Amino acid sequence: MEGATGDGAFSIPQCDSCDKPAILEQAYSGRILCGKHLAKSVRKKISRELRKQLTLRKGSHTTVLVAVSGGKDSAVLLDVLVDLLGQRRDVTIVAGTVDEGIEGYRPPSIECAASLCERLGVRHEVVTYPELSFLEMDEVVNRLPMAVSKDNNAPRMACAYCGVFRRQGINHLAEKVGADVVALGHNLDDMAQTVLMNVSNGDLERTLRLAPHTSTPVQGLAPRIVPLRWVPEQEVHLYALHRELPLHHEECPNARGALRWRHRDMVAKMEADVPGTRHGLVKMADQVKALRDEVVALGGGGGRPPPPQPCSRCGNMTSGEQCKACDMRDLLMDEDQSKL
Ligand code: SF4
Ligand SMILES: [Zn+2]
Ligand SMILES: [Zn+2]
Repeated sequence: MEGATGDGAFSIPQCDSCDKPAILEQAYSGRILCGKHLAKSVRKKISRELRKQLTLRKGSHTTVLVAVSGGKDSAVLLDVLVDLLGQRRDVTIVAGTVDEGIEGYRPPSIECAASLCERLGVRHEVVTYPELSFLEMDEVVNRLPMAVSKDNNAPRMACAYCGVFRRQGINHLAEKVGADVVALGHNLDDMAQTVLMNVSNGDLERTLRLAPHTSTPVQGLAPRIVPLRWVPEQEVHLYALHRELPLHHEECPNARGALRWRHRDMVAKMEADVPGTRHGLVKMADQVKALRDEVVALGGGGGRPPPPQPCSRCGNMTSGEQCKACDMRDLLMDEDQSKL
């Protein structure tokens, strides 16, 4: 068979750019790629997106905080960013990890993150929830026994708490290292799931706040960029394996209780049925954001939420009087009191 290596029923398709055996067929593009050419295509996508999302000003220095977890997405993000920007004198890359306090899961993943940073020669900062005056997630889960039930109908509070606390952890690290920009490792699947989740919830506000924040920075916060947003999860994984990056493969034990888990299945099914669905979802969010920007540019009211202000309790930026993390902390204390 032309374009294939080997023979008979087990023939492996050949890369469409060289004579090596392929490791991936991209249903959404029709391309067939070997490891080397897949890595090249992933790098190209990230580099193109980085040019759009990261504005480097002549004569000024930029510090990029890369949020790393030990997992494949942030490992690929850091590896490619170091490759693309590591030699620049006007850019400093620092990696940061938030330790949520999840026994058996976070410690080995922090080790992977640390070993990747060592390999790439990148400074690595870690902050724990107790250092931020939050309870460790294991303790949160104890206080909310229903929160992490595997039953889909059970409350899914653990991740709601964790997400709010982690956001503050990243803000804390960004401030500590003087970051101008925070790079997050969200891949195409993550982004598509988030868009679908927001649409299902009728949450336009969250869609408008979706990263990248390049054209809509939030006052007092380092803007988030998401250079992996057009790279499918499977390709991120294959790139990480191709580059032999140290990876932690386990899922967080609380993840299956999360609402995202369901949307993950839905997006995967939709993509298998109609290749290109993930791209469509993310493009749709981009179009809604662009529409908002047009309305704001024309002087239309209501396009943007009011600028954030410091939380009356902890000083972190918030759109209300008190920030979400302080709300959550109060809720946990109430939960604890009610058990007494
Ligand atoms: S799955 Fe939920 S609890 Fe686990 S790290 Fe993610 S947000 Fe936190
Ligand atoms: Zn090839
Ligand atoms: Zn607060």
